[in-house]
Amino acid sequence: MARSKKILITSETHEKAVLKRSRSAASVRFCAECGQEAETLSLNEAATLLSVPWTEVISRVASGEFHTAGTDERCLAICVRSLRKEWQGR
Ligand SMILES: [Zn+2]
Repeated sequence: MARSKKILITSETHEKAVLKRSRSAASVRFCAECGQEAETLSLNEAATLLSVPWTEVISRVASGEFHTAGTDERCLAICVRSLRKEWQGR
């Protein structure tokens, strides 16, 4: 019982992230860390992409490992360039 509920929640979250992405596409912002424009993702999108909890994304932003380029509709805009090393290393 508990197991199937967990799977349902996970797939719903994933679906929402995909929907949001197709609706708004990637937004491009200036990343001060990169010194150039970069595509950005929301916290949820970054977490979904890397298959980690969003709390881990937050802590990696705090440690400076992932860049942020301001906020987007009250969400952190996370620089895709800074995620790429992690994401492609898989
Ligand atoms: Zn950056």
